[in-house]
Amino acid sequence: MTRTAGIAWDIWRAGRGSQDAIDRRQRDRLAALVECARSASPFYRRLYRDVPDMVPDSAADSATDRATYIGELPPVGKRELMENFDDWVTDPHITLTGLKRDLLDDPSRIGSLYRGQYLVVTTSGSTGEPAVLVHDRTSQLVASLLGPIRERRTLMAAKEARAFLHPGLRAAALIADGDHFAGVVLTESARRRSPRIARRVRVFSVLRPLPDLVADLNDFLPTVLYGYPSAMVQLAAEQKAGRLRIHPLLAVASGESLAAHAAAEIEAALGCRITVRYLASEALALTSRCRQGLLHVNADWNIVEPVDDAFRPVPPGELSHTVLVTNLANRVQPLIRYNLGDRVQLAAGPCACGSPFPTLRVGGRSGDVLSFAAAGGAMLQGARLDGKVVTVLPLALGTVIEETAGVRRFQAIRTGPGSLTVRLELWPGAATAAVRTAVGERLGAFFRAQGAAGVDVLFSDEPPRPDRSGKFREVWSA
Ligand SMILES: [Zn+2]
Repeated sequence: MTRTAGIAWDIWRAGRGSQDAIDRRQRDRLAALVECARSASPFYRRLYRDVPDMVPDSAADSATDRATYIGELPPVGKRELMENFDDWVTDPHITLTGLKRDLLDDPSRIGSLYRGQYLVVTTSGSTGEPAVLVHDRTSQLVASLLGPIRERRTLMAAKEARAFLHPGLRAAALIADGDHFAGVVLTESARRRSPRIARRVRVFSVLRPLPDLVADLNDFLPTVLYGYPSAMVQLAAEQKAGRLRIHPLLAVASGESLAAHAAAEIEAALGCRITVRYLASEALALTSRCRQGLLHVNADWNIVEPVDDAFRPVPPGELSHTVLVTNLANRVQPLIRYNLGDRVQLAAGPCACGSPFPTLRVGGRSGDVLSFAAAGGAMLQGARLDGKVVTVLPLALGTVIEETAGVRRFQAIRTGPGSLTVRLELWPGAATAAVRTAVGERLGAFFRAQGAAGVDVLFSDEPPRPDRSGKFREVWSA
C-alpha cells in the first residue's frame, strides 16, 4: 500500500471505529511526536528537560492517563516558538532566514514546495506577529485526505452534486493574495499540480476594489465560493443590487466566524447553501462538518484541549478562554499544546450523527475580550487608580452597534481603558449624524449597564476595512 493509500485507509477506519481506537491513535501518535521533538528539536529538548518520558502503552491505556501525561507538557505560544524558529524545526536544513530568502519574500513562489517537500504558510499577524508554519508530507497528506473522506456525504447533497455535472467545478477563493496565507497557499499549490485544476480554481483577492472583484466573478461564473464570509456578505449585496450575476451551488465560509444573519443574507441573495469550515494554519485538518451541521474534531490527528486563562482544563459544555492544539501529523515543526487563541466549547455528549469524534463550537478569539475601566475613581494616564476593570464580550458589544438602524457594517476598536473608536458604513439613505447619535446613545446605555460608564465613544471618518490578510474583524483591542 502506498503512503497516501495507507493514510486514507486509516482515516476511513478511524471514523468507523470506537472511542478507544481513537484514543489509542492519539496516544501512539503523541508518544511518537514527543519522541521526535525531544530528539530532533533543540527547543523542545530544552523545554522538556524536566518532563518524564511518556509511560509506555499498556500502563497508559486510558484517555485519563493520556490527559494526565499531556498535562505534564508545558504549553507553547507563537512568540516563543517564532523567537526560537531555527531550534524549533526538526530539519536542520530549515532556517527562518533561508525560508524568507528562498520562498517567503518571493510572491511568485506562493504554493510551491520548500526544499521539494515542505508546504509553508504564514499567518496574518492580526493578533501580534505573524507565524511561519512548515508542514511536512504527512501533514499535507492528512490535510488533503481528511476533508474528502470525512465530509464525503455532508459537503454536498446528491442533488447538489448532480447539479455540478453540467457547469462543472469552478471554485473562487475569496481571500487575500500577495502573501503566503494558508488559503492562498493551498489554492495555489493545487493549481500547480495540474493545468486542469488551474483553469477551474482561482484566487479572487478580497483586497481589490469591489467593482473589479464583481467584474471578474461575472466572467468566471464560479460554482463554488470559498473563503471569508465578510466578502460573501458584500457579494450578496452586489448580487441583490443586480451588479453581480453569479449562480454558485455552494458557499464554504472559513477564516472568520459566520453570524446567523450573515449566513441568511448570503443564502438568500446567492441562492445557494452556505457551510462553514474551522481550520487553522497550524492544524490544517482540525475539524470536519457532519450532516447535523456540527463541527467534529478530527481527534485521530489532533488533540484539542479547551483551557482557562491559567491553562487549566475546562470541562465539556463550558466555553473555554483559549484552546491548546497538538497537531499529531506534523513532525517537521512540532506543535504540542500550542495556544491557538480561540475560545471553544466541546459538547458534553455524543452527536446525533453517530460520529465517534467530539463536537466543537467556536466562540471567537480569546484576545478579543475587551477590558474597560470600571465606573467611579479617578483616571491617571489612562489607568484606573483603583485598578478595577470590566470585561466585555465582543459579540455583545458588536450586537449593540449592529442592531442600530442604518448600520450596514462596522468596526469597534478599543483604544484604551476608557475609549472606543467606531467606524461605520451605513445603508444608502441613512443620515450619518443621526446614526452616530443613535449608536453613541446605545453604547452609552450598554457601558452603563456593564458598570463602565466612563467610556468615551469616538467616531472615525474612516470606513470599516479588512486587515492585510483580508480578514474582516468587527471588534478588537488595539
Ligand atoms: Zn455530528
